[in-house]
Amino acid sequence: MADRKVALACMAHPDDAEFTCGGVLALLHEVGWQIHIATLTPGDCGSERLGAAEISRIRREEAAHAASVLDGTYHCLERRDGFIAYDEPTIRATVALVREVQPLLLFAHAPHDYLIDHEVASSLARNAAFFAGVPNLKTERFGPFRPVPYVYYVDPVEGKDLFGTRVEPTTVVDIGRVIDVKARMLACHASQREWLLQQHGMDEYIEAMKAMSRRCGELIGVDYAEGCRQHLGHGYPQDNLLVRELGDVVHARSA
Ligand SMILES: [Zn+2]
Repeated sequence: MADRKVALACMAHPDDAEFTCGGVLALLHEVGWQIHIATLTPGDCGSERLGAAEISRIRREEAAHAASVLDGTYHCLERRDGFIAYDEPTIRATVALVREVQPLLLFAHAPHDYLIDHEVASSLARNAAFFAGVPNLKTERFGPFRPVPYVYYVDPVEGKDLFGTRVEPTTVVDIGRVIDVKARMLACHASQREWLLQQHGMDEYIEAMKAMSRRCGELIGVDYAEGCRQHLGHGYPQDNLLVRELGDVVHARSA
């Protein structure tokens, strides 16, 4: 079971995984990993024009399409934007997701990020990684799954926490080889370009992603990179799996 090459990105909203770790997922896919992308919500608030049900339907399809670029599977836990709660039903749903997918590697949001949805999703993913193996935590479907997966927190949006403090990634991955794949995955989220333009003043969805990846690349002197930090608390795997799996493109650095 220790060599199960399955990665799960468990994020808050559709397109979060593509923005933050799409490149690393693409590199893992290249070396034979099976990819799963999950979101807590279907992105029901991601439109100025369309109602929640309509935009959700569109965004579930976009997210599934993006995952399919890596021959991957998309899962939606059907919470709602702005209401992702650290409560019993959501904890159980997230544990059930980990039991279903049985990942060796799990990507989560940074513990401190600009949206509370991201922070709660981060806690849910971290908790699910641990409790997926605990028999007395019952889920309607799927039995306990061990071992505890490797957990990496992707960089927060714009690489800063809610106080504007820089968050230094300790694992930085050169994604230059797959930047076009990452762009292709993001392009599947066509509904979001218009929304981002109005809400964030961010035009050119893809260019914004490339600019983010370029900024991260500067940390290790490459064109494009993605950064993350590994969960190294008690009970979680301690070695750097990304270095082992991806080799030279991974740069481990001290915070
Ligand atoms: Zn998000």
